[in-house]
Amino acid sequence: MPCAASTRWSRRELLCAASAAGAWGLSGLARGAGFAFTGEPQQPALIAMTLDLEMSRHYPTWDQLHWDYEKGNLDEATRQYALAAARRVHKRGGVIHFFALGRTLEQENIDWLREIVALGHPIGNHTYDHVNVAATRSEDIQFRFQRSPWLIAGREPREVIAENIRLTNLALKSRLGIEAAGFRTPGGFRGGLGEYPEVRKLIREQGFSWVSSDYPAHPVGEEGQPVTEEVFAGIVAAQRAAQPYVYPCGLVEVPMSPVSDVTVMRAAKWRREDFLEAVRRGVAWAIQTGGVYDFLAHPSCLCVTDPDFQAIDLICELVDRAGERAKIVDLGTIAKSVSGTPAAGRAS
Ligand SMILES: [Zn+2]
Repeated sequence: MPCAASTRWSRRELLCAASAAGAWGLSGLARGAGFAFTGEPQQPALIAMTLDLEMSRHYPTWDQLHWDYEKGNLDEATRQYALAAARRVHKRGGVIHFFALGRTLEQENIDWLREIVALGHPIGNHTYDHVNVAATRSEDIQFRFQRSPWLIAGREPREVIAENIRLTNLALKSRLGIEAAGFRTPGGFRGGLGEYPEVRKLIREQGFSWVSSDYPAHPVGEEGQPVTEEVFAGIVAAQRAAQPYVYPCGLVEVPMSPVSDVTVMRAAKWRREDFLEAVRRGVAWAIQTGGVYDFLAHPSCLCVTDPDFQAIDLICELVDRAGERAKIVDLGTIAKSVSGTPAAGRAS
């Protein structure tokens, strides 16, 4: 069924569907036929660690805005952090799902990415320039094109966005010899792409069977203040809205689980211990309920805020301790578990 047929899928319906997926066993959106939410795990929790390979505004120092224009021009500290994380998790028998920007593949030395691929970590498509896939005006696509509008002159935003995705597939294939392992939208969308049937159609036309676009709303508390129990409880409650589901067009959504590093440590100025506590509670919730947790972070932020890899070590430890009740997987495995579609990120 083409995505265009699902324009009547309203935001409200989608949110209901998302929460149904969180409660499992309803409307065929849950993973595992007949699974009913009891609060007791009836299947192992699926825990993913995802790292988006891009430069982040305000890192490594607060005055930096330059990277808005060169998201994919990774600095050495970011590359080294990503590689060290890949080695660390591989050593423990786990996997990290990376998402790369096409522009990164223009860099002279990509040996670090080649090693990440050789270690068995999948790399998905995050567009070429970190574009806003829902943009309908040229000026909303990305900062690079605001400063250099001639790069996209005379073309419709939809066309520019499609090319930004397509070129990244080609760059991954050409420079690394791999197919893109799924697609993640730059920026999270509350309720995913439920209100954007044209964007879902475009993503499917680029060959993807699943997308990671939904970042559910959650509280963050007072900027710069220690996080309260109420905020932590709100974050745990938001995990239900971060369970995978299927759009009417068949595209599978694998949401990002709150909280992301940049959302709380950059925007809300959280301390690392609070970030780690939020991650710990989110993973614990997934293990307790047999749910999904999709950790989202950025090496460009973590190399400053978590230089000794405590977040990914914590997740590995929690999964190890859970034994049979949890496993570390990539997002393709999560997408397959919800839909029965091929595990590969790209449709055949
Ligand atoms: Zn991003």
